[in-house]
Order: sequence, then C-alpha cells, then structure tokens
Amino acid sequence: MTVHFLPWDKSRNLFEEANHLYEEAATFDCIDAGDLVAVKLHVGELGNPNYVQPCFVHEIARQIKARGGKPFLTDSNTYYLAQRHNAVDHMQTALINGFNLAPFIVADGLKSENFTLIKTKGILNEIEVSGAIAQADAMIVVSHCKGHELSGFGGAIKNLAMGCTPRAGKLRQHRAIGLEIDTSKCVGCGKCKEACAFHIPDIIEGKAYNVSKECMRCPVCIAVCPMKAIRYTGKDNLSKALASAAYGILSTFKPQKVSYINFAKDIAEGCDCLPNPGPDVFKDIGIFASDSPVSIDAAFLNSMDYKTFNETSEVDCMVQVQEAAAIGIAGNVKPKIKTL
Ligand code: SF4
Ligand code: SF4
Repeated sequence: MTVHFLPWDKSRNLFEEANHLYEEAATFDCIDAGDLVAVKLHVGELGNPNYVQPCFVHEIARQIKARGGKPFLTDSNTYYLAQRHNAVDHMQTALINGFNLAPFIVADGLKSENFTLIKTKGILNEIEVSGAIAQADAMIVVSHCKGHELSGFGGAIKNLAMGCTPRAGKLRQHRAIGLEIDTSKCVGCGKCKEACAFHIPDIIEGKAYNVSKECMRCPVCIAVCPMKAIRYTGKDNLSKALASAAYGILSTFKPQKVSYINFAKDIAEGCDCLPNPGPDVFKDIGIFASDSPVSIDAAFLNSMDYKTFNETSEVDCMVQVQEAAAIGIAGNVKPKIKTL
C-alpha cells in the first residue's frame, strides 16, 4: 500500500498539485455515482488556527461531485463542553471557520443521540458509530496531523476513532486510561473539583476521590492540582482503544469505500480541539494520500522526529499505528512513499 506524498513547497501551486496527488493515489476511486460521501474532517475549535484550510476541503468536495458522488462534510459532537458540543454550536463553528460551500452535517445529531452500537476487535468489545457515518456509502477521511496529549499524535486513525463516534463512544475510548489520585499528596484544596467541567472529584474528609463513570480522563484536573497528586495510568490503552474503535468504524463500510488524506502542516503539540494549540514544533511537511489509515499515519510519523511528541505525551506515537495493523486494519507500518 503505497502512500503518495506532496511536499509543502510554496514555490509550487499546492492547490492544483493536491489534485495531481489525489489522481496519483486514486483517492476518489472509492466513489460510485450516487454515493452519499462523508468528508470526515475536524472544523477546528473556535479560535484554533491549525485545522485543514477550507479551500482544500471544498476542492475535495468538488472532486467527489465530479465523480457523481454527493459529498457532505461531517464530524461528531465533542464530549467536552465547548463550541462543538451540540449540533447547533458545531454548525455555527463550522460556518465561522469557513466551511460554507458544502453541506455540513453533524454525524451524531443534535445532542449526540444518533448512533449505532457495533462489535469491534481489539481492546474494546463494542463501539458506538455516529449515525451519518454508519449510513454513508463512502468516506474521504481528511485529517490534520498534530500532537496530542493523550495519544502522542492525531492523524487518520484518531480522526476515524474519536471523530466518527458520538459522546458515548468518545467516553468509552477515553476511559481505557486510568486516573489515580494519590491521597498521601492530596491536601483537599478542591481545585480539581472547581476546574472540572462536571465537578466530578468528591472531597471527603480533606481528600479528593474520583469514582465517577462520567470522568472522561481529560487533562484539566491534573493540570490544576498544586500537589501533583493526580496522574494517568495505562496511557497506552487509549492508543489501543483508538485502533479498536477505528476497526469498528471501518467495518460499517464495504471494502475499498474509504480513502485518506493527511495534511501535515501547522504541526503543534496541541490538537485542533484547543483554541490555543501552542507554537508549531515541526516545519510544514506536506500532504499524504493513501487507501490505508495505518500506512498514511506511519508515513507521517516516519517523515519526522516524532520522539518530541512521545516525550511530551509520555506515549509512543507508534502504538496506535502498530495496534491498528495488529488487529487487522490493512496497511504497512513502514510504507513505501512516492513523492510527487
Ligand atoms: S479527568 Fe478530571 S477534570 Fe477531566 S472529567 Fe475527569 S475529573 Fe473532571
Ligand atoms: S487539586 Fe489536588 S490537592 Fe487539591 S483536592 Fe484535588 S487532588 Fe487534592
């Protein structure tokens, strides 16, 4: 499974060259006339400057139409409480961020109620799939490659896994990680409870406890604890959960009906869910296209020194890629790359 690659060379017309890349990679061969085609993207949290530029996404939608497909841009609601937590805010954010030339459908409905529960392979037994993803005939997964505090990095696999699941599926994946409060360090200040959007930790007799099934393992309470009493355990398990969820999502499509485009530019340690993702930590690399999420994410990681992400997140970025290959998602962790 060769990955096709266009370097981010601004002396070339990247908008036009991207179409040559898709042609070389046969990106749109997965589309048959009349298909309802999901263009799975992340429209960017309000304020985030790093998400994939709308001009590229709109051109992808135009190419789908040229093949006789019916494209719709799509993403699922977030678990965290911000500007993409319900369909109304999400659609408003998509418009503000420039996604206005193709229909944008929130895949899991108004309040994340529209999904199908399916069996999957790997660390999770089941995964919730957002309704519009489960019902689409084909999908082009457009991902922005960047760092991620919990999984090392995010690319195509994460876009499938977190991005194609409703809140219940996101919670299921996040809870693959453990969270521990060291009561010998805790001084009962309550800052964790105050900062948590769901006010989850209980303060009992001067110590914090977290036994809630709603805790999504976000980094908020860890960041605010003055005693460094809260920590994650088993962080690799989230990467494995991503692979497991991605397997389930893909099982809702017929073979050869999903294709992938990764944009490796504006690469910060923070993801596109953050309004403030931090400075870029790598130079812009380019655009990758492939028919495999394993190969395309591996190609991105192999093109840069991803140990920077490993050190910040304390997770090996390769775990999600290797796990995806191990449970049967087709692809190669050392793919051939053909440069345009
Ligand atoms: S990780 Fe902490 S801040 Fe996040 S939901 Fe759980 S208790 Fe709340
Ligand atoms: S913020 Fe830290 S020290 Fe304060 S109550 Fe929570 S766990 Fe304990």
